[in-house]
Amino acid sequence: PESKLPALGTTIFTQMSALAQQHNAINLSQGFPDFDGPRYLQERLAYHVSQGANQYAPMTGTLPLREAIAAKTAELYGHQADIDSEITVTAGATEALYASITALVRPGDEVICFDPSYDSYAPAVQLAGGVLKRIALQPPGFRVDWAEFSTLLSDKTRLVILNTPHNPSATVWRKSDYAALWQAIADQEIYVLSDEVYEHICFAEEGHASVLAHAGLRQRAVAVSSFGKTFHMTGWKVGYCIAPAAISAEIRKVHQYLTFSVNTPAQLAIADMLREEPEHYRELPEFYRARRDRLIQALSKSRFEVLPCEGTYFLLADYSAISDLDDVSFCQWLTKEVGVAAIPLSVFCADPFPHKLIRLCFAKQEATLDAAAERLCQL
Ligand code: PMP
Ligand code: GLN
Repeated sequence: PESKLPALGTTIFTQMSALAQQHNAINLSQGFPDFDGPRYLQERLAYHVSQGANQYAPMTGTLPLREAIAAKTAELYGHQADIDSEITVTAGATEALYASITALVRPGDEVICFDPSYDSYAPAVQLAGGVLKRIALQPPGFRVDWAEFSTLLSDKTRLVILNTPHNPSATVWRKSDYAALWQAIADQEIYVLSDEVYEHICFAEEGHASVLAHAGLRQRAVAVSSFGKTFHMTGWKVGYCIAPAAISAEIRKVHQYLTFSVNTPAQLAIADMLREEPEHYRELPEFYRARRDRLIQALSKSRFEVLPCEGTYFLLADYSAISDLDDVSFCQWLTKEVGVAAIPLSVFCADPFPHKLIRLCFAKQEATLDAAAERLCQL
């Protein structure tokens, strides 16, 4: 058939993980841990399966999980989301993002996003008939220039997509970014889709700034998160979105025919985990800070130059001192010849991205990080 997405191939994450496997390389490309999630969570899953919680969950998510999400959101961001009308459990953040974009973007609507941007946003906007307006952020800070942002606004602007902590740049939004965003869009009917899947992996002193903590923006915002990152279980694919009732109602119209509902025992197990072991996510920054610092320390002996990492489990490294190859070629070479797989940054950008930056995932056991660093230090 004639393709609806002719320019699109297989995602870079699938490509690089396959290449890593083919060449037996240490895989620091696709973002997933090489260690297991909490035992308690696994035991609760087995428990709920054994108790017969094996039929369809409610379309919006199981009540215990929505209650646990509401409690966490109130505690962390000072926002009391309504359990019935404002919280929707989805099949990972990916479904929440897709359902939100499908529900909000009409043909011809303009959508602003910040490049580098996570790869699932653009195809969803395209399928909805929207037109993407991209703002290219520049390393090392990747900060938004709010004057430039304002020049992109038009009477067709419908949605702004942001992501903090940011994959792949590892930077985080400040409260002042939200204030600037609100100032720019307050008097127009523009919605905000805030991808916060790394909300618990934030190293910034001021912590994670959620869109839900901004009283103005949260009237127009969809906040998206995922338990895959928080509980080291990317394969469980349980995420959620929080939005005002009128927006949630539209998202649910898409969700009910996209997946209808999400894995019942996994939802119940995650609800137990959130309720009984909240220290897991409270201690996550320290858990990942140790891994981040271990990799940074090891790479200080290499010719890579690492960029500041304020959040996510990704570290950017500049290889200008090592090679003249473009980043895609460099990552292929690195995988095949050096035995370490990484992600090139240009694939997240529409405009040419001439920087020599790769993304390394440090959600790995210490031995994995040490072995990868040893290889990278030989360059
Ligand atoms: N957004 C970002 C920024 C991500 O990095 C990821 C996954 N790595 C997702 C969304 C998708 O999350 P999930 O696996 O829960 O669908
Ligand atoms: N989001 C993960 C990453 O950035 C990968 C998810 C996927 O493979 N689709 O690596």
